[in-house]
This record gives sequence, structure tokens and C-alpha cells, in this order.
Amino acid sequence: MITGEPVPVLRKPGDAVIGGTMNTNSVLTFRAVRIGKDTLLAQIIRMVEEAQGSKPPVQKVADRVVSRFIPAVLAVAILSSLAWYFMLADIYDIADPLLFSLTVLISILVVACPCALGLATPTAVTVGIGRGAELGILIKNGEVLEKAAGATTVLFDKTGTLTVGRPMVTDVIAIGTDEKQLLAIAGSVEKNSKHPLAETIVIKAKSAGAALSETEGFDTFPGLGVSARLDGKEVLVGNRQFLLDRGISADDGALRNLEEAGKTAVLVAHGGRFAGIIAIADEVRPTSAAALEEFRRMGLETVMVTGDNAVTANAVGKRLGIANIKAGTLPGDKAAEVARLQKEGNTVIFIGDGINDAPALSRADVGIALGTGTDVAMDSGDIVLVKGDLLDAAAAIQLSRKVMGRIKMNVFWAFAYNMALIPIAAGALFPLWGISFRPEFAGLAMALSSVTVISLSLMMKGYMPPAKK
Ligand SMILES: [Mg+2]
Repeated sequence: MITGEPVPVLRKPGDAVIGGTMNTNSVLTFRAVRIGKDTLLAQIIRMVEEAQGSKPPVQKVADRVVSRFIPAVLAVAILSSLAWYFMLADIYDIADPLLFSLTVLISILVVACPCALGLATPTAVTVGIGRGAELGILIKNGEVLEKAAGATTVLFDKTGTLTVGRPMVTDVIAIGTDEKQLLAIAGSVEKNSKHPLAETIVIKAKSAGAALSETEGFDTFPGLGVSARLDGKEVLVGNRQFLLDRGISADDGALRNLEEAGKTAVLVAHGGRFAGIIAIADEVRPTSAAALEEFRRMGLETVMVTGDNAVTANAVGKRLGIANIKAGTLPGDKAAEVARLQKEGNTVIFIGDGINDAPALSRADVGIALGTGTDVAMDSGDIVLVKGDLLDAAAAIQLSRKVMGRIKMNVFWAFAYNMALIPIAAGALFPLWGISFRPEFAGLAMALSSVTVISLSLMMKGYMPPAKK
């Protein structure tokens, strides 16, 4: 729960354990030293709540515009009608100055009615959120779109976000035997174990068609490996130290290569001889590289923040072209890193899947949770990617930019009618051509501007983000 890693952390007698995490294959006797609000899970929940309360409100584009527009229009309407009543009616010889000045007043107020402006944002946001849902991107509220569109930096969790989050066998290096035989030997022993790495070896052995036999005298050595006898010969499956302790040395070159690639090497010895290595890694998701490419194309800074160790983190970072990596982070560190970047003036998106990502997801300007992840993460995020595909995260940002662009276009069109018609309603054309603007035409113009804005918003229904093409 705390590292977000699928492989369990070794605990020895006397070590601290964390409530809510899993005990894989031993019996535990433990003493509760912190309970209730002091537990780590309660602290994570508190961090999430604090972060949610500290989010600055978004000033909406349309609100900003309206706050200046309305007083200005009222002033223009009143001044124009007064000007006509007291001065201009006399100059231009108008029979009924009161009727004319009232017509001017009403026409300006009608033509300036910001109803299209009021529609500019909600219609675009509604269509945008609907389009997102069709694409498997659940956007929880409209404000997120505005923040996502202006994002500068994207932080990624590694395990379960950039990677699949499930260890799998990647390499089988058999020495003095063949691959299938090696998997059969290791699988026969490991099928007695509940360790997640053991399970991946058994799955691989079965899928490779290796026949698993019964073993005798199975034994577990915590933090080292397992042993058993297969057809009278002793089989050892474990780490380098496990084999060395029993006087068996491994192929160091191959081992180093695997470790540099961020893989976990499981060594196998059979009948006192080194028989090979089975490498296990949490593979990068098939679409991660393309998604990272898409983020860079959009001009976003990419950072990896992981609870895993630096070697594995660097190996994954290298494959995906992420240079900026923070490894070995605790849940609080992830949130602190988000806060630090925000302080430097960045608008931060955090993408994660685990309970350990929850504080950072809430702290970020936009938290994007993977639908394949934990419920706590999905609850803390502003956007949920149903399919857990990072290309959808890129698509979410592209959709946000599209919606924001459309809101601005809507505001322009809502204003274009107002701006063009207010002077005419004020009687600006009357002195030259005798044209005045009747309130019913002002009403028609306003209806047209609303239709324009709604049509522009609806046209986004068919929008396909470049990341999804
Ligand atoms: Mg994770």
C-alpha cells in the first residue's frame, strides 16, 4: 500500500508493519502501537483532505469578462438614452423624444443581454465532458478542463501507471539445460509458494508447456528463496546470496545486465549446479511510450515520481525518455514534490493508480487516476481513465485545450453581436441615415448569437483528440 509496488517488502522479526497492507505467506504476531487516527492509512486520508481544501478556486473566463461588461453596458445604455432625451432629440428634430430615448435604452439592454455569454462556458463544458465520457475519460467537473488546458508539468507514478503493475517473466536464461526444462524445475518447486514472484514463474512454466512435477521437502527461506527435492536432487530457487550460501556461484555478467535493466533475477540451482536465471519485471504498458511522446509534443515537462528503487526507476525512465526521476518516495513525498513544483509556478498534473498516490492526486492541479487502479486513487483524482491507458491522459489534455479554445471562441461570438449592435441600438446611425434599431430586432440578434454559440459547442461532439487517432 505504501510503496505501490506489487512485490512484497521483506519483514523480519522486530520490524514495523503497516496496518491495511498484506501479509503474503506467513503468520504474524504483532503489537498495535498506533491505532485509529494515528495509523498510516488515516494519515494518508488526512493528507488527501488537506490537499483538497487547499486548492485555489479557478477564475472562469466568462466570469472575468462579465464582471466588466455588465457595468459598462448599463452605463452606455443610460448615458445614450439621456443624451437623446436632453440633447440629440432636439438637434435631429425628433417628434417624441421620450419614446425615442426609451427605445434606445431598451434596444441597448436587449441587444447587450449576455445570454449567449452565459451559454458560452456551460455548453462547451457539457459537450466536452460528454465527449470525454464517450472516449473513456471521466471528467468529474468543468473546472478541471480549464486547469488541464493550462498545465505545464506532468508527474507520473511508475508501477501500475507507466507499467502494467504485475510482474511477469521476461527472460529465461538456461545453463546446461533448455528453457522449458529450467521452467519445469523452477515451476515444480515454486508452485508450493505463495510469493507473487513464485506465482509468475508457475504461470510462465504452464504457458510454456513445461510439465510440473511433485516435489518433496519444500522449505522457505525468507528474503532468500525456496528449496525442495525433485527426483532426489535438491533444487534451489532464490537470489544470489541464497545460492552463494550453499557454495554455488552464478553467471555474474548476465546477472548484472538484468539488474541494470531493472529486472529481478531469480536464480535456479539443480543437483548442486547452477542451472540458469529467470528474470522477472513489471513491463512498461504498450502505449506508455506513445503517450509520453504525445505529452512532449504538447510541450509538457515530464517527471517520474515512484516509491520504487532508483535502479528500476532509471531503467523504466530510460525506455520512456523521462530524465527527471524521483525514486524511493513515500506518499507524503509525492504530494510534497507536487507542492514544490506548484510553488515554482507550474500547473501540475499527477497521474497515478495507488493508495500511495492519493495525496499527490489531490494536491495536484489536476489528478488523473487510472481506472485499473485502487478506489482510493479514483476517488482522489479529478479525471478517471476508464481503460487505464495513458494515451487517454494525453487525450484528456487535448480535449481540455479544445474545450477552452471553444469557450474563447464562444465568448468572441457572444460579444461580436453585442459589440456590433450596441452602437446601432444607441442610435449612432440615426444622424446620418435615419436608421434606428427596434427592440424586436435586438431580440432576434440575441437569439441568433445564442444559436451560434450552442452550434459551436455542439460541433465538438465529433472531436477526436490527436492522441486517439
Ligand atoms: Mg502505482
